[in-house]
Amino acid sequence: MRHTPDEIWSEILENLNDTAQQDVYLHQVVPLSITADALNIAVPSAYTRARIEERFHTDIQRVLATLIGAQCALILTIDNSMSHSNEAPDETEIDGNTDQPLAENRTLTSNIPSPLQQNQTGLNPNYRFDTFVVDTPNRICHATALAVSENPGRDYNPLFIYGGVGLGKTHLLHAIGNRLSATQPDKKVLYVTSETFMNEYVESIVNRGSAQGFRTKYRTADMLLIDDIQFLQRKEGTQEEFFNTFNDLHMNSNQIVMTSDRTPNNLENLEVRLRSRFQSGMVAEIGMPQYEMRIAILRQKCQDHGYNLPDDVLSYIAEVVETNIRELEGTLTRLVAQATILKEELSLDLAREVLNDVGPPSPIQQRRTATPKAIQTVVADYFGIDVADLVSLKRTKELVQPRQIAMYMCRELTQMSYANIARAFNRENHTTVIHACKQIESMLDGDEDEQQTITLLLGQFR
Ligand code: ADP
Ligand code: MG
Repeated sequence: MRHTPDEIWSEILENLNDTAQQDVYLHQVVPLSITADALNIAVPSAYTRARIEERFHTDIQRVLATLIGAQCALILTIDNSMSHSNEAPDETEIDGNTDQPLAENRTLTSNIPSPLQQNQTGLNPNYRFDTFVVDTPNRICHATALAVSENPGRDYNPLFIYGGVGLGKTHLLHAIGNRLSATQPDKKVLYVTSETFMNEYVESIVNRGSAQGFRTKYRTADMLLIDDIQFLQRKEGTQEEFFNTFNDLHMNSNQIVMTSDRTPNNLENLEVRLRSRFQSGMVAEIGMPQYEMRIAILRQKCQDHGYNLPDDVLSYIAEVVETNIRELEGTLTRLVAQATILKEELSLDLAREVLNDVGPPSPIQQRRTATPKAIQTVVADYFGIDVADLVSLKRTKELVQPRQIAMYMCRELTQMSYANIARAFNRENHTTVIHACKQIESMLDGDEDEQQTITLLLGQFR
């Protein structure tokens, strides 16, 4: 079962009583993300948050429990930037008797740009330099990124940033773009993943009318930020097009910044001429955060989200989650969610209890050996379903996606053939598994929540 945060929020509003439906504050909410643990919504002020919590928290929680499950907490994050685009109503309106029909209010709500929504440059406004914690492992990357945002096309062109999953490559890339857009609004900044670039390129071939549009879009950028360039491997046609785009931009001293999970040299399935272009500027590695940096990041995230956590809890999280920053953030969110559900202060004891729990995947559990059985157990636990149901022939909504994820993980983590995976799930036909893998892959393309879920689940084994 998969709903977008917007769908969930609409459904919640529909299920609340009339007073709530008329409440102006509820209509200021911007749904941010939904996971099995928590619905995260943004509100423009502490006042709005307090008011919603006081009046509607129980009701919202009740609807959430029926939609997602009792484990799903409501988390309200304050986003001050919202109050500019969406002025809080006058005090006189506070008590609700705005006679505006609901439909009108709705439209109002959906017009407010979600902070996570990307604007036409493709940039996520939350990924900025001021929300990026700098320490030894990313100091050089950060310094060059900053320099590039101040003097694009000058000293480091291209800039090539590489490093492992969840270490902040995408964040930095957006930060560069956001900075340039803020300081030099006339500059045209373009952020894309290499997959989007490829898809648009393919589209421009299929639909010949759009070829010119494609070229113009990419070749007139003052700054091209292209994420996860490793996905261009083996895509020869797209490589050719990228090569030309690259040369065009570079010749005109337009800045190019790329990220990758490995060095240019290790992009083995990329044409040599591209690899050597990538190396011609600055190549910077982003490394794993050490303990102090993990603490600093946790503090930053608490500040971003308006959480207030005791120091011992932060130290504990930083001790147990060593792998990457995405996982660090995920663990923090999960703990806050649990504390909200339990209506308890987030104490060290509670944190220990939750993270040692067998329930949803915990980064500190020992890495397991990837067998179909172990994968099924981890996935079933995570989604709160029975393994027996997961491998049954039932096709209810709650089972289909977890099952596909489990199949996908078998493919990723084991050497098993499609046919053998099918058998492990009591299926005769191996095309079911192929279909499942395709489904998950296409879902991963662009859906950050899904990426996070899958990274967490795979992390149990890797
Ligand atoms: P990558 O692209 O390297 O896989 P991301 O840039 O998506 O990683 O980072 C994963 C998460 O961690 C994001 O939510 C990002 O904001 C956060 N993050 C990464 N590095 C930092 C940092 N140095 N300071 C603050 N947050 C960070
Ligand atoms: Mg990334």
